[in-house]
Amino acid sequence: MSMATDRRSTILDSIAAAARLAKRDPADVQLIAVTKTHPASEIEPLIAAGQRDFGESRVQEAQDKWPALRAAHADLRLHCIGRLQSNKAADAVALFDTIHSLDRVSLLDALVAAATASGRVPSVYVQVNIGDEPQKGGVPLDNLPAFLDRVRASPLPLIGLMAIPPLGPQPGPYFALLAKLAKRHDVTGLSMGMSSDYPTAIMLGATAVRVGTAFFD
Ligand SMILES: *Cc1c(COP(=O)(O)O)cnc(C)c1O
Repeated sequence: MSMATDRRSTILDSIAAAARLAKRDPADVQLIAVTKTHPASEIEPLIAAGQRDFGESRVQEAQDKWPALRAAHADLRLHCIGRLQSNKAADAVALFDTIHSLDRVSLLDALVAAATASGRVPSVYVQVNIGDEPQKGGVPLDNLPAFLDRVRASPLPLIGLMAIPPLGPQPGPYFALLAKLAKRHDVTGLSMGMSSDYPTAIMLGATAVRVGTAFFD
């Protein structure tokens, strides 16, 4: 076993424990292994151990690593979790099954155009700028209702909301706010929680956690 597969067991145990505390079914929490900066040789043992959902931040890096891995394993699901430029939309649609970082109309339009041209239709999370941080991606809270309407009117299946809380010791209130927004807007998916805080995110309703460091470092 590699270190990462060992770690995977520990992470799955923590996910199950957090779900049990929240009276939730652990199967309702998708574990996305974030493999940015890690080569295929470190990813292969995870696939062999049964991991199927993987996240990457950068289109170029994902293009270098994933076509060969996908060719060898047809049932993998690849998630784009990083900021996405509109001019990379076609490449992203060709590669990713799910986009977690949809946060503006220009990107929505570019993804729809790429999906129409290619016939590959990614599902999407709308990223919310939950901490109102100017340097971060995400739809401003005030614009969320109108933006969700636009996404719903598009051919891209909307899974739910995604957020990255401000750095700090207290992500809980931000996770709770994202869950409240999802409920208010009638979406069920909640992509929230990373290595340092995924148990908290699960207790507050996360349906997808994006975990990198806890696998590898
Ligand atoms: C890198 C990254 C993660 C994983 O973070 P870790 O702290 O390494 O678990 C999750 N989400 C996003 C958007 C990231 O860029």
